[in-house]
Amino acid sequence: MKIYVDMDKCQHYGQCTFEAPTVFALNDDGKLEYTGEVDDALADQVEAAADVCPMQAIEIEA
Ligand code: SF4
Repeated sequence: MKIYVDMDKCQHYGQCTFEAPTVFALNDDGKLEYTGEVDDALADQVEAAADVCPMQAIEIEA
């Protein structure tokens, strides 16, 4: 599955990093970094991350 985060929306709060820590992380500058393509086994985590994102910035493409 593919993941896209709209960086114009993302406010780098980091809630997604708690739901899917192997996919999303905040770097040393506090900016979000993420993996754009992940195994479908992580779908539940990624969907949970998208759900908690307060900016609805995470888009998922199956
Ligand atoms: S939860 Fe949403 S706004 Fe926060 S860092 Fe993740 S993508 Fe960005």
